[in-house]
Order: sequence, then structure tokens, then C-alpha cells
Amino acid sequence: MLGSAFAHLRRFPGSGHQPVGFTPCLNRHLWQMSGFAEFSFDARLARNIAHAGYVTPTPIQKQAIPHALAGTDILGLAQTGTGKTAAFVLPLLQRLASRDGGKPHVVRALVIAPTRELAEQIHQVTTTFAKELRLKSATIYGGASMNRQVSALRHGVDIIIACPGRLLDHMQQKTVSLAHVETLVLDEADQMFDMGFLPAIRRIVAALPTARQTMLFSATMPEDIRKLSAQVLKSPVKVELERGPVATISHALYPIAQESKTELLLHILRDAGTGPILVFTKTKHKASRLADQVARAGYATAALQGNLSQNQRQRALDGFRSGKFQILFATDIAARGIDVDNISHIINYDIPATSETYIHRIGRTARATKSGDAYTFVTGEDKGIVRDIEKALGKSIEKRLLDTFDYKGKSVVLSPAAAPGQQTQKRQMSENTRPKGDGKPRRKRFHGFSRS
Ligand code: AMP
Repeated sequence: MLGSAFAHLRRFPGSGHQPVGFTPCLNRHLWQMSGFAEFSFDARLARNIAHAGYVTPTPIQKQAIPHALAGTDILGLAQTGTGKTAAFVLPLLQRLASRDGGKPHVVRALVIAPTRELAEQIHQVTTTFAKELRLKSATIYGGASMNRQVSALRHGVDIIIACPGRLLDHMQQKTVSLAHVETLVLDEADQMFDMGFLPAIRRIVAALPTARQTMLFSATMPEDIRKLSAQVLKSPVKVELERGPVATISHALYPIAQESKTELLLHILRDAGTGPILVFTKTKHKASRLADQVARAGYATAALQGNLSQNQRQRALDGFRSGKFQILFATDIAARGIDVDNISHIINYDIPATSETYIHRIGRTARATKSGDAYTFVTGEDKGIVRDIEKALGKSIEKRLLDTFDYKGKSVVLSPAAAPGQQTQKRQMSENTRPKGDGKPRRKRFHGFSRS
């Protein structure tokens, strides 16, 4: 009987097979077996968790939820795809629901995120789990109607999920009151720092009651975030998870001359299967131009870049999510907060400027245990950053040349002075060719970078 309830299985790191979509009559039994039962959530919240198909808490949830429920400050080192949203949303809802007392809706929880997409995602998770809890949440971000946000705030909300800039606008115009905030969450703090939001965050934090719980999540811990944490967190518990990206991602470098990248991209796409592919470019212009070029080669593509209106961005994202567009070309800023499961390949058409950005980009694939490939095109100028990325990953990345691609005049000299005893590129090519017909791009290993 129970077996049929486990008909739909999905996997999550560290939690084995998990049932989703079980029938309501089995909910109570399954809930008792569920790893979430140990947190003694409010019955309504427990029901919502069960309906969402969550059975076993992910490692970050297991670590963070008990502390978050106790009201302790948390410093969470976790990247996207680990289940960190529920790790803060669930305890936050539990605490708000348990101290409801029939009060009119006043803002008691504030979640700050770097992008509107991420804010929307957190909002969706919050709405899913808040069903029947009589808690209202609202999003606040730029590029959307100020009036509508003001009206939502006037009607009363318990939880605000905001991007820093627009929240400051509301604070200045006194259209929001943060005097009753009990919980503050700073999500993807390192991204907010990258985007220049730290001064805005400091101003927002200064306007909050000092007696509050604060949870700060970040995938990486640059010095400025360390300093911010020391300023905003009080005796935090550190919750740390998989500092590197999830193990199911395989990384490869593709040395190529700058002007031949598009040709190589088209060649790789031929063998990349039909799964969703996210391609990163350095500039907005390049994202749009490539989307057009690759569409002309017969692929369903879209570009996601900062010049688009909110509607256009949403259309591109929805189309990518639904499979209408197989390949999405994006810049880093535009891609933040993209939550699309099953992305099979991340292709760094342009290598990112920092190792932190690399970790963020590849965090978009292999979400929730699925495996993924991260390909990075490298030119002769990228040696330094490749070394940084390898350091961050704690391993060197395989360099690949494709034997089916004509490199004549397009290859790139990455290591002018090969170390003594190092094999030549040509020899490597002949020795490491994969057997043909295995469905993967045939490739050769290449050890052309000089390593210090
Ligand atoms: P996040 O890192 O919060 O963006 O979550 C990544 C994905 O994992 C999302 O699609 C979540 O719905 C899913 N997820 C999070 N926690 C669980 C869980 N305990 N069981 C199953 N799926 C989960």
C-alpha cells in the first residue's frame, strides 16, 4: 500500500529516494515517517510541507532549522540548489504563526535578495508553505509598479521579500514600516555585495529593531561579507555546507581563439542533447547577438539581459522553464535567481571575472542532485582566472579539444613555455580521443596550461 505512494521518486543529495505526490489519506503516516516530523512544525505547516513533496530535509535544512526555530542568528554558507530557501522560510513561518495572536498584519519578517527573480522564487516558496497560516507576504523590487506595492503594504503584510534599492525607496517615502521586524534574512549576500548593494543593506539594517533574529546566507565568503556578518549577526551559529559546487557537475575547459568561439559553440551544441542549456556571456549585447545567431542555426533560443522589460524577462524565463526555448543566453546579473531544474549544460562562452561568479554560474546546473556539465571557453588571456577557479574547486579542470572540430588557425596557445617532459598538444590529441559513438562530444584531453 505504502509502496504505491512512493511511485514518484526523486532524489536529493544525502537523502536518498523521496516520495512526491502521495495521496491525502496517507499523509499522516508518511508525515510520521518524514524527516521533517522531528521539527514539530505547526500542523498546517506540516501539511503544506507534505503536499510540496518534501519528505527528508536536505543537509542544510537539517542543520539550520533547529537553530532558526530557536531564534538563533545563523550564518549559512550554502549555494543555490541545496534547499536553503526552505531552510529559512519554514522556521520563519513557524515562528510567525506561533505568535500570531490575531494581530493585524504588520511586517514582522524581512527577506532581502539581490534580484527580482530570486525575490519572486522566495515569495513562491513562502506562499506555498504559508497556506492556511493567515500570513501575507509581498514582494518589493524595482521595475514593477510602485503604486501596487504601496497598496499591498497598506493592506498589511507579515513578510516582505525585497530587493534593496526599491525597499529603500519605500523607506524614504515612508510607505513601509519596519519597526516591528523580528526576523531578517539576507539571501545570497555575496551577490548583493557584487552588485554594489552593501551600502543600501547597511541603511536598511540600521532602520530595523536591534532585538531581532538575523540569518545571512552566502555561497562564498569574501572579506566584505565576513565584515557585514560580524556587524549584523549576534553570536551566530555557522551552518556550512559543501563549500565547493555539488559533486555531480563535471567541468571542462575548451581552449579556443576569441573569434572562433561561436563556431565552437555551434559545434558543441550539435552533441549536447536536447536538455536546457544556459550560456553565459560577458555583455548584454553579446547575449542578444548570440541568441539570434544560434536561432538562425535552428535552435530555440532566448536572451536574458538587463535591457529587457520585466515582462520580456519573464517571458524568456518562463519559455526556458517550459522548454519552449532550449538555450538561454544570459549575462551574470540577468541570470541571478534563475531557478530552472534539469539544466544539462552551463556553457561559459566568456569565462567569468571571478571564481565566485563561476561557482554561482555552475550552481544553476545539477540542482537537486541531477548531474550537469559546465563547459568554459578559454582564450590565451584567461590563464589567471582559470587558476583561481581551479583553486576554488580544489582540483584542476580537464582541458578538452574536440577531434571533430577543425582547429586550424583557431586554437589558442595557452602555455608558451611547456614544462619539461610535458606532452605536446598533438600527442595528447591522438592518445585521449574518446571512443566514437558514445553520444558525448568526442574530445581529447589537453594539458596546455602552464601551472605554477
Ligand atoms: P533551493 O536551494 O532552495 O533553491 O532549492 C532547490 C530545489 O530543491 C527547489 O526546487 C526545492 O523545491 C527543492 N527542495 C528543497 N528542499 C527539499 C526537500 N527537503 N525535499 C525535496 N525537494 C526539496
